[in-house]
Amino acid sequence: MIGISILGSTGSIGLNTLDVIARNRVRFRVVALTANNSDERLAEQCLEWQPEFAVMADAEAAERLQQRLQNTGLATTVLAGSDGLEHVAALPQVDYVMAAIVGAAGLLPTLAAAQAGKRVLLANKEALVMSGQLLIDAIREHDGELLPIDSEHNAIFQAMPPHHTAGLDQAGVRRILLTGSGGPFRIRPLDSFHNISPAEACAHPNWKMGRKISVDSATMMNKGLELIEACWLFATGPERVEVLIHPQSVIHSMVEYSDGSVLAQLGNPDMRTPIAHAMAWPERIDAGVTALDLVKIAKLSFEAPDTERFPCLRLGFEAAQAGGTASVHLNAANEIAVAAFLEEKLCFTDIPRVIEHTLEAHSVSPIHDINTVLVADEVARATATAYIASLH
Ligand code: NAD
Ligand code: MG
Repeated sequence: MIGISILGSTGSIGLNTLDVIARNRVRFRVVALTANNSDERLAEQCLEWQPEFAVMADAEAAERLQQRLQNTGLATTVLAGSDGLEHVAALPQVDYVMAAIVGAAGLLPTLAAAQAGKRVLLANKEALVMSGQLLIDAIREHDGELLPIDSEHNAIFQAMPPHHTAGLDQAGVRRILLTGSGGPFRIRPLDSFHNISPAEACAHPNWKMGRKISVDSATMMNKGLELIEACWLFATGPERVEVLIHPQSVIHSMVEYSDGSVLAQLGNPDMRTPIAHAMAWPERIDAGVTALDLVKIAKLSFEAPDTERFPCLRLGFEAAQAGGTASVHLNAANEIAVAAFLEEKLCFTDIPRVIEHTLEAHSVSPIHDINTVLVADEVARATATAYIASLH
């Protein structure tokens, strides 16, 4: 049996992962479940899955979870904080770690999984955007595996030849075509963008996801982060990754070869497909996903992205080109801006302004160690927070 720790088990990706495991109980065993502060939901999951460990990032929530599990007869050990998350990411009885925490909070536990030589199932794109080469090197040095859960990168992985990690030229690949739906505001009149509410931004046409990534999809910062993610996963520069708008979200991305062949991965927009793919790879297992009905879908369309409408996409490309700590600044400013927008303290059109200001305020330095990343993250958060305060 394959032992698995699910970091962020109460979230959208976490729930989809448990759904795939429920269909494949003979193959996988849940060793650890974790969440931020939702102790009630984690307690319910513990009763169902009986993990050896349950971790709450929030210490008070961990105490509440401990109380909830008392007298249940469960032998689940409750841990707290980032130390607890790193601990369950590195346990010897764990083979796979589903990295599905949202944002920078997932960075250290994801790195811990890589340093322990695990198969890292990477949904937490922010961790790779921030740490870049550090995470890639940790996987290589400790003989781990890094399999993408993000649907686009999972599609690219599926369309790549087996030995693609040495770079696109060696793989005979000319370009990566990174598709995106364009989000909920692809055709909304631009002059109404300043009125966009959190509820509108979170109503994605094709995917049901957590609130942060939903806003990222609405600003298209998600595609900017994914561009950077693709560069690290497939050892290329941003100039060989072309973003393509495909509103139906049926093709999840494509790989163009030097002979002109283009390979695509298709499927219904259901995260259980990439989750099941990465969990079973190189085999295939049931994911509970309905068959693709191409006759019903009838039409697949494509457009070039509009960076005037979506400046976050341009900012993502610029950070990818700049390298070093630029991606850390980009990610940190975005997290602060999105949180402020969700709290209705910032309007939608100010999200890219906060990020651009933060990127301009800091010079880029190379990343040699994790401390450089953590410091760059902290200073960028402070800059973005101060800028938001100055807008009022
Ligand atoms: P979500 O908000 O639904 O869930 C986030 C999970 O992380 C929850 O379990 C939450 O308790 C936990 N968490 C939040 N803050 C934390 C903290 N500070 N410390 C520890 N744990 C914390 O998010 P999601 O939609 O499941 O996305 C998770 C990750 O997967 C993100 O990085 C996202 O970009 C990526 N992703 C999601 C989807 C999707 O369809 N939802 C698709 C592709 C990639
Ligand atoms: Mg994606």
